[in-house]
Amino acid sequence: MSKTLFEKIIAREIPADIVYEDDLVCAFRDINPQAPTHVLIIPKKPIPRIAEARPEDHKILGHLLIKAAEVADRLGLRQSGYRLVLNNGPHAGEAVPHLHCHLLGGRPMTWPPG
Ligand code: AMP
Repeated sequence: MSKTLFEKIIAREIPADIVYEDDLVCAFRDINPQAPTHVLIIPKKPIPRIAEARPEDHKILGHLLIKAAEVADRLGLRQSGYRLVLNNGPHAGEAVPHLHCHLLGGRPMTWPPG
């Protein structure tokens, strides 16, 4: 099967500004930032989207959220706050079929999202 765009980033076949990486996850800056800080945290396992995650993926997904918060801390967003977003499917605007958690911060945000 061909690699997803984000698998190519993990494999360093496509350049990215990687801000954190370990055995299970990789975090890099979004190429088209929607906030002063916009980072994507992805599992190295190519789970297409949260709807396709399996019960056995719970360790990866828990780890991903813990690391998202750590990255937010490290980027100075703890006090001001930030948003974590998972887009799942067409109505959510999902464009890349490799699960990714958007970390957005550095400006106030409205709710609900458009
Ligand atoms: P989504 O719409 O939730 O699927 O989000 C996909 C995100 O991937 C978008 O915010 C894009 O700007 C981002 N993106 C696409 N290509 C790249 C890339 N090569 N490096 C970093 N971010 C990317």
